[in-house]
Amino acid sequence: MARTALVTGGSRGIGAAISKALKAEGYNVAATYAGNDEAAANFTAETGIATYKWNVADYDESKAGIEKVEAEVGPIDIVVANAGITKDAPFHKMTPEQWHQVIDTNLTGVFNTVHPVWPGMRERKFGRVIVISSINGQKGQFAQVNYAATKAGDLGIVKSLAQEGARAGITANAICPGYIATEMVMAVPEKVRDSIVAQIPAGRLGEPEEIARCVAFLASDDSQFINGSTISANGAQFFS
Ligand code: NDP
Repeated sequence: MARTALVTGGSRGIGAAISKALKAEGYNVAATYAGNDEAAANFTAETGIATYKWNVADYDESKAGIEKVEAEVGPIDIVVANAGITKDAPFHKMTPEQWHQVIDTNLTGVFNTVHPVWPGMRERKFGRVIVISSINGQKGQFAQVNYAATKAGDLGIVKSLAQEGARAGITANAICPGYIATEMVMAVPEKVRDSIVAQIPAGRLGEPEEIARCVAFLASDDSQFINGSTISANGAQFFS
């Protein structure tokens, strides 16, 4: 029987590419989103992938949503915690609200997404937890104290989950994308984007599909011994 994958924030950007790649690999896929109904409806019409709306920052909503997905699509074997936001500001201007919104969505959102599926994975002795972190969690970033804290936190989450899940056939890994050509990055003024690209040794932005292929590999049986790892996909930026 085909395995089931849940992709949070799976109807747009990197998440949409992940959802499509997993469907192409033969998984049953459910994609979630926060509020952009139109994008989600278009995505479902285009791909046939079911979309579900809930706020990953809310534990009860996440748990109820996951129960619905498991009833309608199947027990979740692969969970991709991809939903994320930015609320950038230099630290001296960052408000407690900007701090909490990003922590609640990007970090607590990972707990809220993985915690409800974890017992089923333990019972079935198989699971794949894949968290989409960021290069900025590895190296920090100006005006992203909140975001970098969450993305660094993701690495601690997967390293810890890896140790807890290893004997139950569950792996937990993170992917740290560099700058990827999504709406978020393409909305940046061209001049700023050019200066970003100038810092990438590969000389270009990454494509969402390049992250999706990393996810497809981590979801597969071939990756069983890769556990607690971080895959950096950034055109050599981090190492320059
Ligand atoms: P997008 O802004 O294109 O898409 C974000 C997705 O997450 C949307 O589907 C959105 O739903 C959903 N989402 C946002 N907040 C919530 C919430 N509270 N509850 C449920 N869903 C939510 O993001 P990207 O594709 O650019 O980024 C995806 C991930 O990759 C993020 O974690 C990001 O931090 C990370 N990343 C991105 C990089 C890039 O260059 N783009 C680089 C490194 C990491 P809706 O459609 O309803 O708004």
